[in-house]
Amino acid sequence: MIMIHYLRGYAFSVRQVHSQIAIIGGGTAGLNVAAQLIADGHAIPQQIRIFEPMKMHTYQPGWTMVGGGLYDINKTLKPMEKVLPKNVIVSDSPVIKINPEQNQIETFDGEKYTYDQLVVATGIRTDFDQIKGARKQLEDPNSPVASIYHYKYASKMNRLVDEFEGGKLVFSEPQMPIKCGGAPQKIVYLSHDRLRKRGIKSDIHFYKTAALIFGVPKYAEILTDVCQRKQINCHFKQRLVEVQDHVAIFEDQDTKELKSVTFDLLHLVPPQVPAQFIAASGLGDAAGFCNVHPNTLQHMKYKNIWSLGDCSSLPTSKTAAAVMAQTPILVKNLIRTWKQGLEPIPEYQGYTSCPIFTSQSTLLLAEFKYNSELDETFPIFQSNESRLMFYLKKDFFPFAYWYFMVKGLWGGRDGFRFFKGA
Ligand SMILES: Cc1cc2nc3c(=O)[nH]c(=O)nc-3n(C[C@H](O)[C@H](O)[C@H](O)COP(=O)(O)OP(=O)(O)OC[C@H]3O[C@@H](n4cnc5c(N)ncnc54)[C@H](O)[C@@H]3O)c2cc1C
Repeated sequence: MIMIHYLRGYAFSVRQVHSQIAIIGGGTAGLNVAAQLIADGHAIPQQIRIFEPMKMHTYQPGWTMVGGGLYDINKTLKPMEKVLPKNVIVSDSPVIKINPEQNQIETFDGEKYTYDQLVVATGIRTDFDQIKGARKQLEDPNSPVASIYHYKYASKMNRLVDEFEGGKLVFSEPQMPIKCGGAPQKIVYLSHDRLRKRGIKSDIHFYKTAALIFGVPKYAEILTDVCQRKQINCHFKQRLVEVQDHVAIFEDQDTKELKSVTFDLLHLVPPQVPAQFIAASGLGDAAGFCNVHPNTLQHMKYKNIWSLGDCSSLPTSKTAAAVMAQTPILVKNLIRTWKQGLEPIPEYQGYTSCPIFTSQSTLLLAEFKYNSELDETFPIFQSNESRLMFYLKKDFFPFAYWYFMVKGLWGGRDGFRFFKGA
C-alpha cells in the first residue's frame, strides 16, 4: 500500500515537472509573454511554468518618478501572485542552468524541469558593488547618496532632494548597456526643477561614461539645449568607480586618470549585467546576453528558445516600451514554429521608447528603432518638451501597465489589444 502511494506520488511529480512552455523571469517581459499567450488563446495557464524568485513585481519606470517627487513608491510594487496570470505554475527557486540539448532547466533548490518551448526573460541585474563603497553609502540613511535604480534608494533620493538646502549635486551614468538609458538624466532634470521651485541655489554636475548626451541626434540636440538652459554642467567620458564620504571618484575613459569630485548630494546609477547562467548555459552572446535573432527573437542556435527584454541580445535600448513591441512578435513566432511548423517572421525592427522628463511638468518622448533611426508615434509632440506627453507618461502608462498589460491586453504604442491576436 505504501509502495502504491509512493509510486502515485512519483508519477504525479514527473508529470508536473514537464511544461509545454517555460518562462524564466516574471518581470515585465515574462509576465507580458505569459499574459498574451493566454489572452490570445494559444495556451491555457496550466501549460505555462514561470520561474520567478521575487515575491513582488516591480513597475521600475515608476522609480524615476518616485526619486523625482512625483509618485508614491507603493504604486510601483505589487505582490507577484496578484499580477501573474491565474493558474500558471510558478517555481520560486532561481534558475541556475539550462541544458538546451536536453530541454532542461536546473534551479537553485536542485530541481530539474523540462520544456517544449523556453522563453528567457531574466532582465539585467544592477551591480552596485562594481562601484567601490557605493552600497555602504546608499544604505546609510545619513549619507547623501541615492539611486533611482532600486526602490529603497529611489525613496531616499526623494527625501534627500526634499531636504536639500543648497550646494553641489553630482549625478553619474555608467557604461552601457543599462535599462532605460535615459533615466540617469531624467532624475537630473526632475531634481533641478524641484530645487528651482523651492528657490534653492544648486550647482549641478552630470558625469556620463559615454561621449554623448543621447544616442539619437535629434533628441541629443534638444537635450543639449535643456542642459544649457538649466545650467547643468555635463562631463563626458567619466566613469564613477568609487564613493567615499562626500567624495566621488571618476575615471577618465581616455586617460584612465582618477579625479576626486566633492558633493553635497550624489545620485549614482549602477553598472548592469545579464544573469550569469545565460552564458554558462551556452546561450549568451559575447557580452553574456541571450543570443537571439534581432528580428525574430528566436535563439541563434536553439530553435525552441526565445528571449526578449533586458536580458536579450537585441541591439536596442532596454525599456519596457521595447518589451511591449517585442512580446506580440515573440508570441507569434513561437506559435508559428511550434504549432504550425512555419519559419518565424523577421518583424521586430528594434522599436523602443524613452520618455525623458525635462521638468516636473514637461517631457520629451524619444522613440526610435535599430541604428538610432527615429520611429515616432506623435511627431507633432516630439520635436520638443511637451506637457501632454508628461501626463501620458506619469498617469496613463502606469494605468495601462497595471490594468491592461498584466492581462495581455496592452500593445504599447499599438494601443489596446481587445481585438488583436498574435
Ligand atoms: C529607474 C528605471 C527607470 C525606467 N524607466 C523606464 C521608462 O520610462 N520607460 C520604459 O519603457 N522602461 C523603463 N525602464 C526599464 C524597464 O523597467 C525594463 O526595461 C523592463 O522592466 C524590462 O523587463 P524585463 O522583464 O526584461 O526585466 P525585469 O522587469 O527586470 O524582470 C526580470 C525578472 O527576472 C527575474 N529573474 C532574474 N534572474 C532570474 C533567475 N535566475 N531565475 C528566475 N528568475 C530570474 C527577476 O527576479 C525579475 O523579476 C526603467 C527601469 C528603471 C530601473
